[in-house]
Amino acid sequence: EHNRTADELEGKDRKHLWHHMAPYSDKAAPMIVTEGKGSWITDLNGKRYLDAMSGLWCVNVGYGRKELAEAAYEQLLTMPYYPLSQSHLPAIRLAEKLSEWLEGEYVIFFSNSGSDANEAAFKMVRQYQQQIGRHSRYKFISRYRSYHGGSMGALSATGQAQRKYKYEPLSSGFLHVRPPDSYRRPAGMSVHDFNLQCAQAIEDTIVWEGEETIAGVILEPVITGGGIIVPEPAYLERVQEICRSHGVLLIVDEVICGFGRSGRKFGHHNFGLKPDIVTMAKGLTSGYLPLSATAVCKDIYEVFKEQEDYSYFRHVNTFGGNPAACALALKNLEILETEGLVERARLLGERLSEQLAELDSHPLVGDIRSFGFLTGIELVKSKETKAPVSLATVKKIMATCKERGLIIGKNGDTVAGFNNVLTLAPPLSSTDEDLDFIVTTVKQVMSENE
Ligand code: PLP
Repeated sequence: EHNRTADELEGKDRKHLWHHMAPYSDKAAPMIVTEGKGSWITDLNGKRYLDAMSGLWCVNVGYGRKELAEAAYEQLLTMPYYPLSQSHLPAIRLAEKLSEWLEGEYVIFFSNSGSDANEAAFKMVRQYQQQIGRHSRYKFISRYRSYHGGSMGALSATGQAQRKYKYEPLSSGFLHVRPPDSYRRPAGMSVHDFNLQCAQAIEDTIVWEGEETIAGVILEPVITGGGIIVPEPAYLERVQEICRSHGVLLIVDEVICGFGRSGRKFGHHNFGLKPDIVTMAKGLTSGYLPLSATAVCKDIYEVFKEQEDYSYFRHVNTFGGNPAACALALKNLEILETEGLVERARLLGERLSEQLAELDSHPLVGDIRSFGFLTGIELVKSKETKAPVSLATVKKIMATCKERGLIIGKNGDTVAGFNNVLTLAPPLSSTDEDLDFIVTTVKQVMSENE
């Protein structure tokens, strides 16, 4: 009976549903997820998996939180929708809470997704530069291997060729520089010198392009989707200095690194940065409802208060800051606080890296990189040449983990051949037993692939 239902549903899925980012295949049946509790999800066949990717790096407080559903439900009954050209209580409360979390004076603009939050940021930066009289500043600098979203502007900022191929031309004015991928630094150069050289690449680009044409720099504190590329603090400090000295605004994309993932409230708190703009999504609601935010430094916001025509921020999105999503986000932040999940992420992250450290001697492991409760294991054919393993090898390891009930991620950039980083970003609420299961399964599967 159950199998008949499963077959029928699979048939309907294939017929009607276009999956995200998934190559079409008639062989692999889609995993139809029916339930989630804590770090675990269950599929239609009743098989359970530990989701060590938190969905798409977002289910920070874990699955099955009744209080999140209730917060949204109560708000939907009371007042389900009103546009933010006016105001409502959950948006005010959440904006206040986010400013507190950011530990600085920020004003919050709500949207629906990480891409949206970045689009709003780009428009704000261009308009700000115009309004302070720097009329020729429109370009943005980001890094290769970064991901900032799928919409035309956010995709333009993205530094992964495979995501752009066949969708170009995109927005003009987006430039890319080398990321601080220390593992692949030139032979003989120290990690520190390499980090400074990568920061210098940003300044060189500003100078070569003409400072008066550069509006902003966008970066994640740690490149996540591009393969967990962790910079030295000196890199980010230097980038901030460069931005300030050239009148370039710094947008920090906290879509993945935010909300405890890094072991601090926001990723940039680990580096003492004071961004002009912070974008966030995913962990803001732990993925339960769509919501994102663009936090803008008060000084920048002030410039939009001029009384000339067109000096206000002429940007709207119908669903941005939906009351139920805001109410749910507030409850989500409360859970992160009351359960100490930010600190727990730091602790679990430390334990995860300690316990995975022995994989360093595995012949396929080139590098293991961690940031809070986020780990990347870069797989190579040879430790000497650092040539990436084939995609088939990465997929085989992932598939074996999945058979054993563990979902892990794969990141990098297909065109550049670096789609060779296994990724772990489990819910911050994971139990000690969950962590043991992750470590044991990954080590076991890796040992079968020596
Ligand atoms: N920025 C980063 C760093 C991301 O990882 C993502 C999505 O994975 C985005 C932005 C875009 O977010 P969304 O998929 O919600 O549009």
